[in-house]
Amino acid sequence: MNSKKLIYLDNHATTPMDPLVLKAMEPYFLNEFGNAASKDHAYGQVAHQAVENARAEIARCIGAEPDEIVFTSGATESDNLSIKGLAQMYAEKGKHIISSVIEHHAVLDSLKSLEKEGFEITLLPVDQFGQISIDLLKKIIRPETILISIMTANNEIGTVQPIAQIGEVARENGIFFHTDAAQAAGKIPLDVNEMKIDLMSLSAHKFYGPKGMGALYVRSHSPRVRLQSQIEGGGHESGWRSGSLNVPGIVGMAKAFSLCVEKMDQESEQVRVLRDQLQDAIQNELDEVYLNGHPKERLPGCLNLSFGYIESEALIKSLGQKLAVSSGAACSSANFEPSYVLPAIGVGPDLAHCAIRFGLGRFTTESDILSAIEIVVSTVKHLRSESPLYDLALKGGAGVL
Ligand SMILES: *Cc1c(COP(=O)(O)O)cnc(C)c1O
Repeated sequence: MNSKKLIYLDNHATTPMDPLVLKAMEPYFLNEFGNAASKDHAYGQVAHQAVENARAEIARCIGAEPDEIVFTSGATESDNLSIKGLAQMYAEKGKHIISSVIEHHAVLDSLKSLEKEGFEITLLPVDQFGQISIDLLKKIIRPETILISIMTANNEIGTVQPIAQIGEVARENGIFFHTDAAQAAGKIPLDVNEMKIDLMSLSAHKFYGPKGMGALYVRSHSPRVRLQSQIEGGGHESGWRSGSLNVPGIVGMAKAFSLCVEKMDQESEQVRVLRDQLQDAIQNELDEVYLNGHPKERLPGCLNLSFGYIESEALIKSLGQKLAVSSGAACSSANFEPSYVLPAIGVGPDLAHCAIRFGLGRFTTESDILSAIEIVVSTVKHLRSESPLYDLALKGGAGVL
């Protein structure tokens, strides 16, 4: 193993493309460059056929029909299209929307802009593990509620929501249900019918596909969902999303998604074993380390830990030379924006500021994990040896910061 290698443990931010995905995309950059809308000649027909095959493949991965898949530039656009598009279409039916406090910015900011247009938004709190309460959800539903938008799995702590139960409640009450599945897709089984999902946002680069490529599942019957398009133009994608289709991206997304679904059982087990090995070793060798997120209902590759008595910026900086990880809090993010997810699960400011999110994936090896353990343990020990607070706590038995 090359000890100088920067170990990539940030698979929730993005994943590397699978080489098989690149291979599937390649012909559509070069020889088969046609515009999928130019069906008068073979170039266009070949591109069109590739797009339709991909649409069917992606639909199959979530138990949907091909005509229920709309291609977008990513989950951010899918979230905007589904939330704003649905709200604008059904505003006369009601102007109340339910979501949660730990949604991705793409959802929260779409909701904020709807608030300015007169919609009322209720954000559900989450428990200490990051899950919403079904009882509370039932209580806050109003006659004018038109949409429930709850993410399938959270990007910071990996907690998976009780999606089928939420879908049940939504369907019983005649409310549309959108879920941002950017982190969950390809990692855990998803079926839009079993889970009674009406809209689902997907992002290719979170499951070993290309960046800038996404899709939105839109239910076509029982109930049929209609959306106000957000990007107007040539009327592509049944008028829901204009713009010439990203043919290589679409082909790559389908290849990436079907690879994930094909390998899911084996891969999630492999990733989970390495993740648990990382967690167990760190918690065995260090004290004052706390798990953020659900102990069981969590994405297999996600491990978010808070390290007590550590200067957060110092930790992420020292790790950054050897480990590509992300911080749940202010420590490393470019704009120093604190996490809103950790406070939402009851993590105090000090522990929220020393959280690290480890994101394991398909290409994470056991030797990566063994190195990561060594790096994390030695870095934390070193930083704590210089921390007067940790020293005090050892002597005086003072509580966690
Ligand atoms: C990454 C992510 C997004 C944004 O996806 P893009 O395709 O990068 O726009 C949205 N929601 C969640 C939960 C994510 O993890």
